[in-house]
Amino acid sequence: MWIGLDDTDSTFAGGCTTFAAYRIISHLTGRGYYVIGYPRLVRLNPNIPWKTRGNGALSFQIASDGEKEILIGLNNGEKIYGYQKIKEECDNPKKIFDLVSKILEKEARFDDENTNPGLVVTREKIDYELYKKAVKTIVSLDKVVSLLGKNNALYIGYKNKRGLIGAAASIAWSPINDRTYELITYRKEKKIGSKREVDDDSVKIMDKKIATTFDNYDYVNKHNRIKPNSPCPVLYGIRGDVAHDLIKAMKIVKSEDFQGWMIFESNQGTDEHLQRKEKIKDVSSFESVILKGTVWKEPFTIPGGHVIFKIKDGNNDTIDCAAYEPTKEFRSIIRGLCKGDVVEVYGGVREKPFTINLEKIKIIDVVKIVKKVENPVCEKCGKHMKSMGKEEGFRCVKCGAKTDESKAKYAIISRKPSPGFYEVPVCARRHLSKPLKRMVKEA
Ligand SMILES: [Zn+2]
Repeated sequence: MWIGLDDTDSTFAGGCTTFAAYRIISHLTGRGYYVIGYPRLVRLNPNIPWKTRGNGALSFQIASDGEKEILIGLNNGEKIYGYQKIKEECDNPKKIFDLVSKILEKEARFDDENTNPGLVVTREKIDYELYKKAVKTIVSLDKVVSLLGKNNALYIGYKNKRGLIGAAASIAWSPINDRTYELITYRKEKKIGSKREVDDDSVKIMDKKIATTFDNYDYVNKHNRIKPNSPCPVLYGIRGDVAHDLIKAMKIVKSEDFQGWMIFESNQGTDEHLQRKEKIKDVSSFESVILKGTVWKEPFTIPGGHVIFKIKDGNNDTIDCAAYEPTKEFRSIIRGLCKGDVVEVYGGVREKPFTINLEKIKIIDVVKIVKKVENPVCEKCGKHMKSMGKEEGFRCVKCGAKTDESKAKYAIISRKPSPGFYEVPVCARRHLSKPLKRMVKEA
């Protein structure tokens, strides 16, 4: 049996969909249901205009009994175990639906007008195609509702019902191409909303010791990335490639006491939101793309510190690319680009102005730039000659002899950045963006 939920959180009042899932799972495991595998935190299209936060939906599979125990979490001192394999399916989806919707109604923040929770309970897994669409494009609620009908799913959408899209799409995800994990710790009730105590130095130690984790700490911007800033119940979240390494990582981090933790399997850090486009005219707003082109208009900085440049494709179409101010030192890489450089840009497409918001860039080829380093020397006087203006040649001030541009000394200047991959810093990284650290591993 699959359970999916989404959009129970609120932008101002706190709450967090992973916390609702944690509550539901803690409750179900105490009633003879077991999670199969890890619960899943599935990030969907980050460019959806009505989502201001992470756009993450939750899903998990449950059964009445299983084989091969795995530790998936801890709730007030009690370990929560799941199983790797199903031994006995659970029936009675209605009973589970009633139980879960009751907990959800207690956890969800209906007071926020932008919170539109959704819950799906289904025996049949939802087709993977729905996930693919929901992570890359915009999916309509009607489509999802008709799909849920075909699946004989039980579902409820609250308010504008948009949470149903994420709830269904989260169930549809399978880690067939890639996956990561995140261990999330939850604060004690009385601490929620107060300043988080998570020791930066211990996070740096953890970051260096546990090599399979990523995006823990931004050393340049001194930003402790595992600690969120919203008033939600999450104390911190550690991301990595190996689930059990995250438990070791948690033991290194020094922090305030917490009520428990849970490990989620996830599509975070996988780049699954990106689609390769051959032509600029195929690029649409609200998507995320990989696009190759030649720098056409050199980078310039606009008020606010954002850096913009233009690329051109083989059809002579052009598009703006932007490294916004929060991408910090990444902007100095971008400022080094010159007209003619061949690049591959990775990023989300903004509608107005129509711009690719850079997450990464692969600099494929940089043009040679030749610069005059010394003026010619007069053959008679042995003195440096003077330029008579751009492309006008040189003249000796003493004897009046003239010579042309080719007599000066030129050198090929060393270009920075050199070809290679560059990414925005940890502090500006999107949930779905694959860190270069993970890309190197694949190569
Ligand atoms: Zn001279």
